[in-house]
Amino acid sequence: MKIKVIKKKGDVLTFLLKDSTPAFANALRRIMISEVPALAIEWVDFHDNSSVLFDEIIAHRLGMIPLKFDPSKFNMPDECKCGGKGCPLCQVVFALQKTGPGVAHSSDLKSSNKYVKPTDTKFPVVELLKGQSIKFEAVARLNIGRKHAKWQAANASYQYYPEIISGDCKNASKVVSECPTGALKLKYKKIDFKDPMLCNLCKKCEEVCTGNLKIKRDSTRFLFRVETISGLEPAYIVQKAAEILENKAEEFKKSAGKL
Ligand SMILES: [Zn+2]
Repeated sequence: MKIKVIKKKGDVLTFLLKDSTPAFANALRRIMISEVPALAIEWVDFHDNSSVLFDEIIAHRLGMIPLKFDPSKFNMPDECKCGGKGCPLCQVVFALQKTGPGVAHSSDLKSSNKYVKPTDTKFPVVELLKGQSIKFEAVARLNIGRKHAKWQAANASYQYYPEIISGDCKNASKVVSECPTGALKLKYKKIDFKDPMLCNLCKKCEEVCTGNLKIKRDSTRFLFRVETISGLEPAYIVQKAAEILENKAEEFKKSAGKL
């Protein structure tokens, strides 16, 4: 199996996985979505809240704020030396105190760990009118997307790599212009891909073509798109997913050894 990076920009990583199978590609996708641990606010202790939002709504909003952190410095609470009670190795406390008028933003959260903070300073938490105030302490811990969407590390998807089997059309230029995503071009009077990433295998070109055109999906090549929605880098999420898959296989191997 080989990986070729197609685009790496900001929160999104696009790559081609070659010499693989649909089962492996799907396992990787599912692990990236639901099993790579991310940090999110788990519970909130309110001391004061005279805003128009209930405590529960604010706690939910806080949970959805993605947090930037170094994954090598944090343990899952149940695997931590503290036994899950909570210590600087498995949790971070955020405090916020604000009086209106004004909007409490993610930038108002004071972190107990200077290396852990929201990925953006402008996430609104709650709007406070004159005389309204809020004060709370929120605890963030590591967990996985399968437990709750707030711990989901990434949006990951893939599509099969498209392949042109035969590109002979009498009306070739019409076929190219009719492609709804603009994925095709003419090469030596034959249909070819301008950008295979744009092809969604809609087969419109096959309908329009008078001649012989066949586009099929290659089930050994997969175009992956991984967009981080947590404080983790997309490349780290892919690497971590591979490590988790490896650990699962290792665990199974041990169990199978006892057969
Ligand atoms: Zn701990």
